[in-house]
Amino acid sequence: MSTRLFERVALIGVGLIGSSLARVLRRESPATAIVACARRAETLATVRRLELADETTDDPGAAVDGADLVVIATPLSAYAEIGRRIAPALRAGAIVTDVGSVKGAAISALQPLLPAGVHFVPGHPVAGTEHSGPEAGFAELFHDRWCILTPLPETAPEAIARVTSLWEQAGMRVATMAAEHHDKVLAVTSHLPHLIAYTIVGTATELGEDLQSEVVAYSAGGFRDFTRIAASDPVMWRDIFLENREAVLELLQRFSEDLTALQRAIRRGDGETLHKWFTRTRAIRRSIIEAKQA
Ligand code: NAP
Repeated sequence: MSTRLFERVALIGVGLIGSSLARVLRRESPATAIVACARRAETLATVRRLELADETTDDPGAAVDGADLVVIATPLSAYAEIGRRIAPALRAGAIVTDVGSVKGAAISALQPLLPAGVHFVPGHPVAGTEHSGPEAGFAELFHDRWCILTPLPETAPEAIARVTSLWEQAGMRVATMAAEHHDKVLAVTSHLPHLIAYTIVGTATELGEDLQSEVVAYSAGGFRDFTRIAASDPVMWRDIFLENREAVLELLQRFSEDLTALQRAIRRGDGETLHKWFTRTRAIRRSIIEAKQA
């Protein structure tokens, strides 16, 4: 049975994540009014064509007027400006949440701007694809994935409970942790893998023309999987690396040391080290499959 958790939801940013959430709301809570906000007329026209919102606007302040839930789902670099524009228009008691991939940055951009009486529940649905925009979204995106909430010590438990219910309606499992911890964990599980993919694909494009065509033809050897990750949105990923700088740099240091160790093993013909290493990593893949996150 569908439950209406919110009467009026403002989605600031209606790309892959925002539009997927709109689809979930349409499915789970048809009586909820949805207001979608984006900068470009083209984006808003697509949202109207797909009937993902009841109202559309390019003005974040107008979008949040009367909303009991505001979801910020734009790239992180837009947060401060959006915070400034929505702050005066937020209704007392409204819940503001977001879906940004770096929680420390989301909190420092938004928290100081939000008025007293508004509840801020930072969040990150850990689900995605390499596609962007309202047409790329789908309601099942979140199914069986984790959503991490990083509430502040002063966040009202009722507000956390309502945002938890929203993501549960989307089929997610919800965890709560400190923003700093989230950013370290995601540096390992998401940010470093993307950086490695961007590097490898970049290196291949620097190769001579002959070799490049062969890289494309024979990509099934492993390269293809990296190209999917490296096709992710450039603005979103630029923002993630700029905003999670410390955690990523620390991890990159450890990664370089491990890479050097493997390099040394190859140079010395040390098959035992290589075999041990690859056996351990294969076990990690199995544990991801067992946790149904493959
Ligand atoms: P997306 O598909 O590129 O969508 C971004 C949306 O924000 C578009 O509707 C864009 O429309 C709008 N927008 C951009 N700047 C804006 C501004 N200043 N004011 C109002 N709207 C603006 O991005 P996404 O993949 O959904 O990612 C959105 C957020 O979710 C990011 O913070 C990202 O870190 C996080 N996230 C992404 C993934 C993923 O795998 N993609 C997963 C989890 C979390 P216009 O261009 O027309 O303004």
